[in-house]
Amino acid sequence: MPPKPKLAVYWASSCGGCEIALVNLHERILDVDAHLDFVFCPCLLDTKKKDVEKMEDGSLAITFFNGAIRTEENEEMAHLLRRKSQLLVAYGACAWQGGIPSLSNFAAKDDHFNTIYLSGPTIDNPGKVIPHTTTQVPEGTLHLPRFYDRVKALKEVVEVDYFMPGCPPESRQIWNVMEAMLKGCPLPPRGSVIGAGTSTVCDECTRVKRDKAVNTFHRKYEIDPDPKICLLEQGILCMGIATRDGCTALCPKVNMPCTGCYGPPAGVTDQAAKMVSALGSILDIGDLKGMAPEQLGERVDAMLDSIPDPAGTYLKYGAAGSILGGRTE
Ligand code: SF4
Repeated sequence: MPPKPKLAVYWASSCGGCEIALVNLHERILDVDAHLDFVFCPCLLDTKKKDVEKMEDGSLAITFFNGAIRTEENEEMAHLLRRKSQLLVAYGACAWQGGIPSLSNFAAKDDHFNTIYLSGPTIDNPGKVIPHTTTQVPEGTLHLPRFYDRVKALKEVVEVDYFMPGCPPESRQIWNVMEAMLKGCPLPPRGSVIGAGTSTVCDECTRVKRDKAVNTFHRKYEIDPDPKICLLEQGILCMGIATRDGCTALCPKVNMPCTGCYGPPAGVTDQAAKMVSALGSILDIGDLKGMAPEQLGERVDAMLDSIPDPAGTYLKYGAAGSILGGRTE
């Protein structure tokens, strides 16, 4: 019997949810095992980095790389796995566009270190010790990977063949992708988004949509929304209008707004810009007759002020891939 193609799954800066989504394939994981040789996955297997280094270049058929690039080690692993893999998939929101870790791009690295190690209310650090790349101890020198100034998406450090959205990707979608690969189905052009649709979550959401006109926004806990009507129409900031479909509108189904984890739909490069433009078309300013320009400005400001943390809301899963959080210092 010919050897099975080799599969690797790696996590960089991430929470482990993408691995859980893989395990959620349930009994289908046996089909994966029947067709692929699962050789590297730090969360599940004991294969080490040095074992991967010994593999021939291109010997991994496919690598699902989840997590953003936060440290020197994340980037080093990205280069190693790129070299060893025929196909490299940015698996999940963090690898695709930086994910939740890239929200940290809105503050400077020193501010993070200050909060985490020095000034946080639960910190007890009288020696004011913060991590350094090298630390001398009696036993020798300890090394830590460099913590970058900003979080990067995988494609900023290596060439990526495919992008699979989701925080985490839906197990059903993971299976669709794996099954297509196992069956040898023709693959889409390199650089494509796989395991998702091309339209928006609104298109697969079954809530009743009427004319959207919103004059104030509410946090979810502030109102008890009608379970059948579009959440955005009820003043709950639902990102479905600016988010790629493929999850079957799971969150709106359970009366929660879409938070945007499937990233921008096809043809949209910046999810926040898309959301701002969508909001611009649904804000209900009221009767403009006789309204002075300053009053108009005040009214718009009051509506926008009812959106808590706009950048964090519009870019919860994709700041590194955006115009705002993707900037370099
Ligand atoms: Fe559904 Fe949200 Fe779109 Fe409204 S905005 S249709 S609730 S996904």
